Amino acid sequence: MTDYDVIVAGGGAAGVGAALGAAKAGARVCLVEKYGFLGGAATNAQVLAYCGFFQRGEDPVQVIRGAGEEVLATLDGMGVDRTAYRSPTTGNWIVLLDPERLKLGLDRVLADRGIDVMLHTRISGAVRDGDRISEVTLAGMDGAFQAQAGAYVDATGDANLSLVAGQAMQVGDGEGRLQASTVPIRIGGLPAGLRIDRQKMQAAIAEFNHRSEHKIDRHDAGIYTKVTGTNDFWWLVIDRAMPDLTSASFTKAEQTGREMAHTLVEVLRDTVEGFEGAWLAQTGPQLGIRETRHPAARYDVTHDDVLSGRQSDQGVARAAWPIELHTEAGKPIYEFVGGEGFFHVPFDAIRAEGLENLYYGGRVIGADPHAYGSIRVMGTAFGTGEAAGVAAALTSGAGTAPEVEALQGALIGVGALV
Ligand SMILES: Cc1cc2nc3c(=O)[nH]c(=O)nc-3n(C[C@H](O)[C@H](O)[C@H](O)COP(=O)(O)OP(=O)(O)OC[C@H]3O[C@@H](n4cnc5c(N)ncnc54)[C@H](O)[C@@H]3O)c2cc1C
Repeated sequence: MTDYDVIVAGGGAAGVGAALGAAKAGARVCLVEKYGFLGGAATNAQVLAYCGFFQRGEDPVQVIRGAGEEVLATLDGMGVDRTAYRSPTTGNWIVLLDPERLKLGLDRVLADRGIDVMLHTRISGAVRDGDRISEVTLAGMDGAFQAQAGAYVDATGDANLSLVAGQAMQVGDGEGRLQASTVPIRIGGLPAGLRIDRQKMQAAIAEFNHRSEHKIDRHDAGIYTKVTGTNDFWWLVIDRAMPDLTSASFTKAEQTGREMAHTLVEVLRDTVEGFEGAWLAQTGPQLGIRETRHPAARYDVTHDDVLSGRQSDQGVARAAWPIELHTEAGKPIYEFVGGEGFFHVPFDAIRAEGLENLYYGGRVIGADPHAYGSIRVMGTAFGTGEAAGVAAALTSGAGTAPEVEALQGALIGVGALV
């Protein structure tokens, strides 16, 4: 049996935020990640931009500091350009990512804080004892073993710790509808300085739809940019509707997405000037999953919280990314944050209903289907993850959940904005 103060499940933005927050608050921390690297969707699904670090508007007003800022500063120190870029069409600010330097930077930042990282290891079981999780089962390369902590953070994106702990769940929007998944693709072999003409990309999609039995629904040519520091082209255009959470559906989405990615690059080579030498540099390792299941929290952030930019004396993290819904594949819908340009995530949204020592970070926090379209981005996940990690550290130390004022004070103490 291995003992920790805090065990964090998942090593995406939320898990990294949670582990850093808990360690800075003095806890002995273990982070468990099923892949061989950290970063979550940024490194396992080629989601190559951090959204949610800044408010929308003329100037980049930062709403996530603390652990998220520590990661950006580490990347900066490794020569990654952390400049925020503003979309001329939406007014949103993003930070572009280099996935390989991100993996290395995250290894370093967690090592510097003395966090035990277990890669190739997944949370596969949990023992629930009344209103507490008493231990978890970790399945690694050398088999399964038990580990104990005073408190736990579910930062798995898919609520896998909560699932094995028997927490109540809602799939998708409550009626079972799931946000579409997307296969982000990275295309190499392009000349320096190539200017992308959206109309030509739209024409390529029309040609793709003519050639392929699987169709691309994003007739507007989707979202694309250059991969920072390279001539590679990053494209979010292949959406796959997810009917359910069965392995059969995920297998089909992965396989058809892959077929489509190869055919799309063939079409670009054949039809778009500048793409004659293009090749598919990367998909994956897995497709980008927007939504799976939501574990029961003590509060769900609401559509109105986002639209009104609601601030709260219960707030433990700020969130500023607009609502971005992909309920119908290929037809995203946007709604912007009101008020001063950010809303608060209240403490109860990161607390598991009915469990005293389980916290949520990232896209598993409590949110209604509209608010979920905002809170799931990675910048915000650093913030909610850090709040969950610090709350877990305090819970482990005291044996009981902290008062919100104590948590807010501890978060400010570790450099977070609340
Ligand atoms: C196509 C697409 C485009 C997107 N575009 C953007 C964008 O441009 N910018 C942005 O900020 N956000 C974007 N998002 C949203 C964002 O990527 C996710 O919502 C975000 O990554 C959530 O962070 P997280 O840390 O909660 O989860 P994740 O990033 O999913 O990380 C969860 C981690 O937990 C691990 N894990 C899962 N189960 C277990 C287990 N049982 N044991 C151990 N480890 C486990 C996973 O391997 C993973 O590393 C996009 C999402 C998609 C799908």
